[in-house]
Amino acid sequence: MDKENTFIGDDGLIYCSICHEAMELKLPTPLLVKFDRFPRQCACHRLQEEKEKKERRDREHAEIVSRNKRICFHEKRMQEWTFEHDDGSSPAMNRARAFVEHWDEVRNAKAGLLFWGGIGTGKTYMAACIANALLEKEKRVMMTDFSAITNISVNDAREYISCLVSYDLLIIDDLGAERSTEYAIQNVFDVINRRWESGRPLIVTTNLDMEDITKEKDIAKTRIYDRLLDMCTPVLVDGDSKRIESANHKKNFYKGIFKQKKGGERT
Ligand SMILES: [Zn+2]
Repeated sequence: MDKENTFIGDDGLIYCSICHEAMELKLPTPLLVKFDRFPRQCACHRLQEEKEKKERRDREHAEIVSRNKRICFHEKRMQEWTFEHDDGSSPAMNRARAFVEHWDEVRNAKAGLLFWGGIGTGKTYMAACIANALLEKEKRVMMTDFSAITNISVNDAREYISCLVSYDLLIIDDLGAERSTEYAIQNVFDVINRRWESGRPLIVTTNLDMEDITKEKDIAKTRIYDRLLDMCTPVLVDGDSKRIESANHKKNFYKGIFKQKKGGERT
C-alpha cells in the first residue's frame, strides 16, 4: 500500500486519496480472529488490474495470430492483404466480407466459395483477405495451392491431407493450374473429398471458366468439380486487376523517379 496516497477517514479506516474509496473493510469478527479490518481494492487498483489483464490478453492474441499467419501463408506479403485496403466497390469483395461477418452461419451451413474469373482479377487477394480476417478472430486457416497438393510425395500424402482437413477454413488457390497426371488428380480429389466429409468450409480460386467446370468431360475431373460445386458457391470475380493496379502503381513510381532525375539533370 502506497502510504503517500492514503488518508485516515472519519471511521478510522484507510482511504485512497486518488479515488477516495476505502482500502479497508470492517467485518464482524469471528471468534479467535483478532482483527476486524480486511484489505480491499480501491478503484485505482481494480483499474490497474483490469489494464494488466487486458494487456496480457492482447499479447496472447497477437502471439496466436502471428503464429497462425506464419502457418497459413507461404508468402509473407500475403499477411498484409486485408479488407482495410478495399474501397467496397467490388460485389465479389462484398461477398468475401459477408463470408467473414457471418462466419458462424457459414461454418454451420458448410458453405464455401468458388472465386472464378480471368487471370489477375484479384481472386487470390480476396481469399487472402478472408484468411487474414478470420486469423484475427483466432480461427485456424490454411492457404495453399493446387500445385502444392499435387506435388506432395506418396509417403507424405496421407498425413498432409489429414492436416489440411483439420483447419477451420481451407483455401486452395488456382484450380486448373496443377499437373494433370493420374496421381495429381487423385490427390486433389482426396483433399476435396476429405474436406467434404469433414463438413468444414472450403474456398477455391480458379482461372477456369464456369463452362469449363460444368461441361468437363473427363470423369476424374468431373468427380472433383461435382464435389466442389456441392460445397462452394461460385462467385465471379471480374473487377479491376489487383496485379494491373500494382503494375500501374509501379509504373507511376518509376515515372516519378525518372521525372525527378530528368529535372535534376544538368544541361
Ligand atoms: Zn484509489
